[in-house]
Parts: sequence; structure tokens; C-alpha cells
Amino acid sequence: MEFVAYASSSKGNLYTLSDGQERILIECGLPIREVKKLLGFSLSGISFCLLSHGHSDHSKAAADIMRAGVDIYTSQGTIDALKLHSHRAHVIRAGKQFASGNWIVLPIEAQHDAPEALAFLVYNKTTRKRMLFATDTYYLKNAFAGLDIIAVECNYAADILQSNVESGAVPAAMKNRLLKSHFSLENVKKFLKANDLNKVQEIWLVHLSDGNSDAERFKREIQELTGKPTYIAGV
Ligand SMILES: [Zn+2]
Ligand SMILES: [Zn+2]
Repeated sequence: MEFVAYASSSKGNLYTLSDGQERILIECGLPIREVKKLLGFSLSGISFCLLSHGHSDHSKAAADIMRAGVDIYTSQGTIDALKLHSHRAHVIRAGKQFASGNWIVLPIEAQHDAPEALAFLVYNKTTRKRMLFATDTYYLKNAFAGLDIIAVECNYAADILQSNVESGAVPAAMKNRLLKSHFSLENVKKFLKANDLNKVQEIWLVHLSDGNSDAERFKREIQELTGKPTYIAGV
């Protein structure tokens, strides 16, 4: 099972997961022209799209990809927020597993400042691999075992954010929002320690902040903590 990060930041998010036969999209937060360009000018090979929440850096092309024939699975809260009124918009709920093609997906409750934001536990029947995808959430209630790939947001480090607030580079209000909406390096470490990482082959850190992160440090510290190959999405 191959996870590819095409875009991963507050400017746009686009990921694919493939088992060699079927390819699914996770997020579609770029203009449709860019989505198509990154995916090879065609959406015809995409089985469906999982959409975590309605913020435009994740959902910008939602209406367009449905018009192009791609079904979207997302929460009622996201459908309402984006007015995704289409037979291609499928409602899913945290805790209610669903299956489509080679995939079985368990939506998970995320903690973010958007209605009914979700994370996803994705199982592939062909490869028997399991991936957790969690972004735009400041923590996760659940712990997981048997994961092969973990893609988790690592938005900021508390010390970098604090020094940016002190220097005036980041307004205090933005800091307060980040604390209650995005995953910090410290919380990612706590989360990873709470999980059984035995089978994990890859850890992807996604959605790093432009100004409040340090990609090399995040990669090094997570790799040291877990002993697993760690990659920074979008770099
Ligand atoms: Zn985002
Ligand atoms: Zn968001």
C-alpha cells in the first residue's frame, strides 16, 4: 500500500493511497486544475475521496471532483458546511465503518474547529495493510494497534510557537486557536507512545505550519522516539 503526499499545509492538502489496483484520494484542498495536474491530468483512476472536514485547504476542489465523477465520503457537518448537494456526497459518521471496493474505512472523531471533523482508519483488503490518517485535530481520543502506516499532523512545536508569539510574529489569538485545533509535536509524541507501533513501517508527518515548525527537528525527534522511518509530507 503506497501513501503519497502531493500537498500538505494550510495552503492545500492532497494525498493518495493505492494498493496497486485501486487508488483513493484523501482530501482535495487545491484548485481542481492543480489537483488534475498533480494526479496526471485525469481523475478517472480515482475510486473515491475521503474528506476530513470543510476548511478550504482540504476541500477546495470537492464540488469539482464530484462533477468529474468522483464520490466523496465525509461527515454531515462537512456536507452542510460546504453545501455539497450531490448524489456523489456520501454521509459517514465517526465509529461507523464502511466499505467500498478494496477498502474498509473507519471514520474517527477529530478535535478541530470545523463541524464534525474526521480522521480515518483505512484498511486495504488486497494488501491487508492498515493506515491511520489524522490531520487538523489537536489530539485523538483513540489508540490503535496493527497499523502499517501512520500519517499524522505535526503542525507546531510549543517552544517555537511561544517564541513567535513573544517576537510578535504570531498573534496571541492565533496561538490560542492552534492549541485547540492542531496537533503539536508534543501531543504527537504522546499519541505515538500510546499506540502499538510494532507493525508500523512508515510515519508521515503532515500539515506542518509554515512558521511554527522545524521539519528536520520534527523528523529527527519522531524517528528517535519511535525507531521508525519518518517522512515529512510536502517536502
Ligand atoms: Zn488544514
Ligand atoms: Zn482545518
